[in-house]
Formats: sequence, C-alpha cells, structure tokens
Amino acid sequence: MRGSIATPGPTTLRYGGNTSCVEVRHGDDIIILDAGTGLRKLGEALLKEFKRRSLNLTLLLTHTHWDHIQGLPFFGPIYDHRCRLRILGCEGARKGLVAALTGQMESTYFPVPFDKLPSNIHIQELKDFNFSVGDVLVRAHRANHPGVCVGYRLFSPDGIVAFFPDTEPRAGEDRAMIDFVRDADILILDSQYDRAESKSHVGWGHGCVDDSVALALKAGVKKLILFHHDPDHDDRRMDALVKHARQLVARKKSKLKVDAAREGMVIRLGGK
Ligand SMILES: [Zn+2]
Ligand SMILES: [Zn+2]
Repeated sequence: MRGSIATPGPTTLRYGGNTSCVEVRHGDDIIILDAGTGLRKLGEALLKEFKRRSLNLTLLLTHTHWDHIQGLPFFGPIYDHRCRLRILGCEGARKGLVAALTGQMESTYFPVPFDKLPSNIHIQELKDFNFSVGDVLVRAHRANHPGVCVGYRLFSPDGIVAFFPDTEPRAGEDRAMIDFVRDADILILDSQYDRAESKSHVGWGHGCVDDSVALALKAGVKKLILFHHDPDHDDRRMDALVKHARQLVARKKSKLKVDAAREGMVIRLGGK
C-alpha cells in the first residue's frame, strides 16, 4: 500500500512499508493486484496454505513502475513447478510487458534469470479491457498517470472491488471515472497527498485524500481505502489523514466508510 518505494522502519510499523499488492479471492479464484514488495509475504502465505497442492494464480498489473513489479522476483510460488501464474497488464514503455518484467531479472539486477524459473508463467498484454478470471468479471480503465497505467474493476457475486493505486484526478468532472467506480463495495484509491502537497505535485500522477473522498461520495462507493501512502507519511501522519477523510464524510452526512490500507488488512465482501 506504500507508494513509490518501500519504507520499512519504526515510524511505519502500523500501516506498513511494503509497496502495492492486494489479494482478492472468490471461491477458488485467486487474483493478485500488483506485484509490489508486499508480494513476497503473500507468496509465503500461499505456499504455506497450499503446501503440495498446485497454485493457479492470476496477477493483474496496473503498470510497470518499480513499486508495482519489484516483488515478482521474490514471489516464492514462481520457484515451484506446481504453480501456474497468468500475468496480465499493459505494455510497459516501448519494449512490451514481457521485456519490462523479465528485464528486472537479468544478471545485472538479479541472480536467477526469468527463463530458468520452474513454474508455468504466461505473460499477456491487455488487448481487451473486458475479460474474466473464473467467476470474476474484470474491466480495466486508463488511469491518469505517467506512462501507460490502468485501474481495475472486479465484479464477483460477493461484490465489486475497484483498484486504482496510481492516478491523478483529471481536471473538471471526470464522468468516465465516476461511472467506472460507481457503487463499488470497495474502492482502493491513490490518496498519496494531502491537499497542499497535491498542489505542488500537479502532473506527478497521484491523488489526494480530499479528492478521493469527493470521488467516492459522487460515485456512491460503500468503502474507500486510501492507498499508495506517501513514503514521507509516518503512522501518525496517516492517522491524521484518515481522521481528516472521515471528517469530510461526516460533513456530508454520508454513510461512506473510510480507512487507510494497512499491511495484512483483510476485508470480507458479501457480509460473510
Ligand atoms: Zn506507484
Ligand atoms: Zn506509477
């Protein structure tokens, strides 16, 4: 949930320092959103849970900036021949998604080359922005972020999850974005800055807490999860941002729930 770079240390213990990685489960379908450094711990947990059973995973990447792919070489299941991993995302820079992901495992950067991995990995560039993963229907939407970046909306029988870890609100009312996240049970949204910080970071491709709350209110979202925390925001600062967001909601007398993403946070959809 941390933005830009991992920030371990005593001042980020409660919210956590790992970069973008979220697991969404529906029945046997396991969907992973982004491969930031948080992916390493998820890999450990999956291997422990599945033991000798085979893993069938789908990884949806929003884009290939470091904080969204650096966990991949440290994801335990890719070293297990029983793992099948399908990776979907947009073309990174000019060389394509395969080059963007395998390049970080070249010998200059990493000891194990991608083509020596024993698992079955299939990397696919998104051509169609509507597809499905098992029973979960997925739709992608372009984010406002440097390079090529998307967000995802996942429809499962349990509910709707929208995920936009990196996006800056577009000038004026963005009807397409409001419609895309409309009625989401959970909206996980880039809220890196406060209002003042966002004014000095125009064009950096990130959002602020005030705009995130405004979008969630307009779109009738049920729960907003602040995401992509600024590396300079320690736990106390994060507490203050959550408090501020809740005050904005209270002023509008809305039932919108707001929280900030934390390492290991679990949310159950469908009231189960
Ligand atoms: Zn990012
Ligand atoms: Zn980015």
